[in-house]
Amino acid sequence: MPAKSINDIVALCKRRGFIFTGSEIYGGLGGAYDYGPYGIEMMRNIRNAWWNAMIYSRNDIEGLDASVITNRLMWKYSGHEGSFSDPLVECKKCGARMRQDKMKDPTKCDNCGSTDITEPRAYQLMMGLSIGATADGEINAYLRPETATTTYVNFKNVLDAKPHKLPFGIAQIGKSFRNEISPRGFVFRMREFEQAEMQYFVKPDEDEQYFEYWKKTRIDWWINVLGIPAEKLRFQPHEKLAHYAKAAGDIEYKFPDGFDEVEGIHNRQDFDLGSHTKGQSEFKLAAKVMENKDSTTKLSYSDAQTGENFIPYVIETAMGTNRAMLTVMLEAYEEEDLGDGKTRTVLKLKPWLAPVKAAVIPLVRNVPEIVDMSNKIVDDLRKLGIGKIELENSGNIGKNYRRHDEIGTPLCITVDHQTLEDGTVTMRHRDSMEQERIKVDDIVKKVLEIVNQ
Ligand code: ATP
Repeated sequence: MPAKSINDIVALCKRRGFIFTGSEIYGGLGGAYDYGPYGIEMMRNIRNAWWNAMIYSRNDIEGLDASVITNRLMWKYSGHEGSFSDPLVECKKCGARMRQDKMKDPTKCDNCGSTDITEPRAYQLMMGLSIGATADGEINAYLRPETATTTYVNFKNVLDAKPHKLPFGIAQIGKSFRNEISPRGFVFRMREFEQAEMQYFVKPDEDEQYFEYWKKTRIDWWINVLGIPAEKLRFQPHEKLAHYAKAAGDIEYKFPDGFDEVEGIHNRQDFDLGSHTKGQSEFKLAAKVMENKDSTTKLSYSDAQTGENFIPYVIETAMGTNRAMLTVMLEAYEEEDLGDGKTRTVLKLKPWLAPVKAAVIPLVRNVPEIVDMSNKIVDDLRKLGIGKIELENSGNIGKNYRRHDEIGTPLCITVDHQTLEDGTVTMRHRDSMEQERIKVDDIVKKVLEIVNQ
């Protein structure tokens, strides 16, 4: 049974070194978390899987890693400076500030139940920066609130460097920052988070077909790659579309307290490239854009066959990697009843997602031959380049197994006196807790069979 509450995951993450509260020793900072030794390994696995699907297994998508500090004009013309805000209300009784569209009942304070609540006001979500000695405290740049816009403004750079015919895409994984009114749900809503977004540029009359294609492709990825059960996912079309969007919806996961967004899929028409383009009047744009007097570049595409020069449409897939890791942990978490009043907590992760691929445990640490053999096995496994291999240097075997169950290590390999006699070790499997005796020479083959699943 997966975790019943997000609190199970919060406790495990702290105890076992996945995620810590940001600035913890100074009382923390709302919406900021630090990823520990095992959290970063899992995040890397998730990023790699996404990068693999988006870039390495296709011909039509290129990668990008744009700067998180950005020119203010970018967000003027993207429309964020004027309208990237949430409706903020304040309770006149207890002073709580809330995001109106996320309140349980918009007429009552979530905190104290009072109905004495202010009218909503637009609350700017972007984090402004004052960069350089001459800025003198004035906002002249922003931390990006999404990766997408930094991709749009690089459309021409990427296309010039690596020519592509439409459709083609640009993908990025990186940090984004939003001054969320009420960060909540652990890493679900943070002020600093990571996105994996892909912008797919298409001909204007091919948008609908590619919207459907990406919707299906991304849901399949959640099911087949991350291993989230299909019945825990759904696609929710947006009830209210942004003025530029032709279609939009969210892939939602069934969290312990209900369905919520993990990835957005959007048909943004020609709004983005059109907004940032120089000489907009030359193009027949479908979306309504702000007149751009500052851009130095036309973000258009020339069709070599027809000679037509136009602004492509964009289909966007926008995933939060922190939310992806949270869903994976919720699904993998199990508290098993072992009988006799004993329980164990185990993360039944797919082996490729596990932060540690295998642990090697010398049963005794004062016999040099046992320690040497353990080191040799560790070295051989590390040469495979499959991720983190741990050598256990402390704790008894029971404690070691418990720790590795909780962090989801698929295999523990124990070296003991018998190893020195017959060249075999104990291999313990996380999910079944089965232990088998295998030859030292077979370890690499066995580990490879299991960790790539
Ligand atoms: P929400 O409605 O939850 O505020 P959004 O619709 O504004 O999210 P997008 O702008 O579409 O989100 O961002 C794409 C993805 O980035 C989301 O599906 C989510 O996984 C992730 N994301 C957005 N905001 C946050 C946040 N504050 N903390 C963590 N992840 C986030």
